[in-house]
Amino acid sequence: MSVRLFALTCGWLTGPAGGFLAGTTGRLRVPVPAFLIDHPRGQVLFDSGLHPDAGRDPEARLGPAAQVFDVELRDGEDVGARLAGLGVDPAQIRFLITSHLHFDHTGGHASIPNARVVVQRLEWAAGHDADLMARNYYDARNYDLGHDVLAVDGEHDLFGDGRIVCLPTHGHTPGHQSLKLRLDSDHGGPAGGGEVVLAADACYFCRSLRERRLPPGAFDREGMLRTYDRLAALEAGGARLFYGHDPEFWATVPQAPATIA
Ligand SMILES: [Zn+2]
Repeated sequence: MSVRLFALTCGWLTGPAGGFLAGTTGRLRVPVPAFLIDHPRGQVLFDSGLHPDAGRDPEARLGPAAQVFDVELRDGEDVGARLAGLGVDPAQIRFLITSHLHFDHTGGHASIPNARVVVQRLEWAAGHDADLMARNYYDARNYDLGHDVLAVDGEHDLFGDGRIVCLPTHGHTPGHQSLKLRLDSDHGGPAGGGEVVLAADACYFCRSLRERRLPPGAFDREGMLRTYDRLAALEAGGARLFYGHDPEFWATVPQAPATIA
């Protein structure tokens, strides 16, 4: 059985470095990743990047965040176009696992019409609570599109085979989740080599984890520190961590159509 992982860069954001990593200055250009996972029982997407119009009309799509971030998203870089470029029909994506509801993770949901959205129940509830929506800068136009939604509580093994497992990593937002994958290069045991954790915004950068540095905008700082501990434990057990917006790390990640082994 083969499970293949593909990295897709769905644009770039440039914003205040201190917003990603407390105590740093200047502006920083960061990638907006999404991931395609090809599993024998269906194609799965983890996050959907920016809305296809975000580059042309950031004000309309990002709202107040357009004052903070410069958006780069050229034609052919949104998630639907990236998938089509790989010969994958976005309408055939079976599951759209959503780390959290921010605009740079749900903007392309509109391009994935038939998928079942898999999200933590806490996150989905926060995305429909006026107070929490305002505090977290959620825009329901990105995610309230009538998809079938599977709201999960805590860990969730998508196909029951341990290959694609949602991990609750709350803190960045009320119900953030990361995704643990077991790729074919896993030969078993803690150092099998095939275990990958797509951290998303549970951990922006490698440095965030090494230096236990939080972004100032974390929803729950204590929760995010506990999440860092959990990610560090997974790494100590042999998992490879993929950070949410780390430009230096991202430069080392093979991009689709290459697979991540
Ligand atoms: Zn993000």
